[in-house]
Amino acid sequence: MRIGICPGSFDPVTNGHIDIFERGSKLVDKLIIAVFENPSKKPLFTMQEREEMLVATTKHIPQVEVVSFQGLLNEYAMQRGAKFIIRGLRALSDFEYEFQRALLMKKVEPDLETVFIMTGTQYSYISSTGIRELACFGGTLDGMVPAYVEKRLKERFKDKYKA
Ligand code: ADP
Repeated sequence: MRIGICPGSFDPVTNGHIDIFERGSKLVDKLIIAVFENPSKKPLFTMQEREEMLVATTKHIPQVEVVSFQGLLNEYAMQRGAKFIIRGLRALSDFEYEFQRALLMKKVEPDLETVFIMTGTQYSYISSTGIRELACFGGTLDGMVPAYVEKRLKERFKDKYKA
């Protein structure tokens, strides 16, 4: 069985992520979406909330499993028998970071292959950071996040979205 892992902070999950999950899931028999705590980012949603939003928005992708973990991604991947890490690439600016991460991963776990999927052009401008910024000022989130995530963001910033 070919198992892939899609790791990320997903704070919150966006339509850009969903597109990567849908396309990535076609490459493997099972896709584990793994929420992790990125120590360099201050989260808006807890890991539990992020996991719950991912479960709610990926129900239509049959071979998906959502987990959250703390610790080393390579160790978790080995433990789960995963051979692929699937990441999305938006712009040249993502490349440097992803390139370094992929090389580091290759060094610590030569059997683990990082696979990149290019963003869908309609999602190339979407980032969780941008979504959090828009939401905290009551901006429109139309078409950028799943309806459920939009609802959760509007609840979180309800003073900004008062009619
Ligand atoms: P991280 O904190 O590791 O950067 P993110 O949750 O921001 O995690 O992103 C997880 C993965 O999804 C990364 O590989 C990122 O490049 C990718 N990604 C994020 N937004 C998009 C998008 N709009 N289109 C394609 N890939 C994306």
